Formats: sequence, structure tokens, C-alpha cells
Amino acid sequence: MHDNVIDQIQEVLRNARKVFVLTGAGISAESGVPTFRGGGNSLVWRGMPFELLSSAEMVEKDLPLVWEWFDYRRSTVGKCEPNPGHRAIAEAATNGRFAEFTLVTQNIDGLHAEAGSAGILELHGNINKARCRSCGHLRSLADIPIDERPPICPECSDSMRPHVVLFGEMLPGETILKAREKAERCDVCFVVGTSALVYPANELPLIAKRAGAFVVEINPEQTILTPMCDVSIRAGSSVVLPQIFGTVLS
Ligand code: NAD
Ligand code: ZN
Repeated sequence: MHDNVIDQIQEVLRNARKVFVLTGAGISAESGVPTFRGGGNSLVWRGMPFELLSSAEMVEKDLPLVWEWFDYRRSTVGKCEPNPGHRAIAEAATNGRFAEFTLVTQNIDGLHAEAGSAGILELHGNINKARCRSCGHLRSLADIPIDERPPICPECSDSMRPHVVLFGEMLPGETILKAREKAERCDVCFVVGTSALVYPANELPLIAKRAGAFVVEINPEQTILTPMCDVSIRAGSSVVLPQIFGTVLS
């Protein structure tokens, strides 16, 4: 159905040195993780709305409750597995075909890492990690017993919180800066499964485009970025990404 467009993208990729990929909730939709607009945002848990439970305010007010909520979310996401879209990205990044491969995600589900991607720029953090409230030290939750809540920082003994950007918080400055730099230097930019409504992630494809990159959108629906993309493929990423990267890499 999209054969001509895929041929065109592969031709661009064959001459590309630096590839940049921005992903959003849509890439994990086919793994069973609900997207934000697909119902994940209307969630109410124990009578409290998602935005309140996942807020900076709640970390101050009731950290054990925040942990209970995030442990619950982790238990649901934990049942989900990476899909062929996550895997195609991981393979493209690790097989040495491109001089540089940057993966930036707005997802917190950890599925890119599970699929084998490394060095991911996680703009919104990672649900599988805890962060010290004082010194910022990170620990993997896989190494922390479930009854250690809140987890305690081994460096400074303060309590730890989920390593996720909450409502009312800024994005990690260094990560977004690095993402901007990479966007500015890429040859091809993929925008996968994001509604592109959240700043500053939605600025990255624009930066790439302004710097001369070829911009590809993969999303079953049109977004506000569609008009500036060189090509848009209206299909699910678990099918399209393996098609695009499969033969380029072989
Ligand atoms: P979004 O929910 O706003 O948009 C999801 C996009 O994915 C939509 O444009 C939709 O058309 C598209 N989509 C749906 N199925 C798809 C598929 N099979 N293949 C490709 N695209 C598909 O998500 P967003 O733009 O990432 O922004 C929402 C915010 O919510 C982000 O800040 C993110 O951190 C957070 N969030 C994260 C997760 C996760 O970690 N998996 C899940 C929900 C929300
Ligand atoms: Zn600490």
C-alpha cells in the first residue's frame, strides 16, 4: 500500500549518515500500552484523577501514595512487551549502518530499552527507575525490594521518587538540549506515534526540518506536524518500521 513511499524513504536512508528518531505513546500502542489520547489520560485511580496522582504536588504531599500509583502502573506496563517497531529501531541503531543514530522518546514505559536500544534520550523519564529527591542519584526498581517504599538513596539517605517528569515539572534540561543538538545535525528525522502536542518534543522535528533533514512521519492519523513532513505514512509503526529498516540494513 505504501510501497512507493517506503522506496523513497529507503533511498534517502541509503545516503544518510545521521538518523534521528522521535517516538511517542503510539509506538507502544501495539504492545498494549494505552496512548494518552487513547484513554490513558482519563484514568481515575482510587477516586483520584491521573493528573493529580502524577503531580509534583502529590510527591510533596503523599509520596507513599505516589509510589503505590506508580507501582500499579508499572505492574500493568510490565506485562507489555516491545513490538517489532521498537525492535526495528534497536537494530537500526546497533548494526553500524549509520554513523550516528539518536533515539529520543516521550515514553516512560522502558520498551525501547527492553528491545535493545541504548543511550536513549528519555524526555519524560522512565517508570522503571527511582531518583533521589536530593542528589538525583538513580536506581533501577528491579534492584529495589517492593516493600522499600519510598526507596532510600544509598548516597545521601534521602527518600527517592519515581524518575518520571510529573505534571507541574520541567523536562530535564540537559536531555532536551542534547536532543535539540542531534535534531539539528541529522540527515533524516522520523516522527513516530506522537500527536506532537507536547512542547518541547514537538519542536524537534521542526529543528531538523529547518536544518535541512528529510522528515518522515509514521502515524495512523494526521497531526499538526503533518504539513511540514516530507512524507507521512498513515499506518501503525509495528508494521512500517520493520519494512523501512529491514531491507536497508540487510
Ligand atoms: P499521544 O497519546 O498524545 O499521541 C499518540 C499518537 O500515536 C497519536 O497521534 C496516535 O494517532 C498515534 N498512534 C496510535 N496508534 C499508533 C500506532 N500503532 N503506530 C503509530 N502511531 C500510533 O502521545 P504523545 O504524543 O506521546 O504525548 C502524550 C504524553 O503522554 C507524552 O508526554 C508521554 O510521556 C505520555 N505517555 C506515555 C506513554 C508510554 O510511555 N507508552 C503512554 C501514554 C502517555
Ligand atoms: Zn541522594
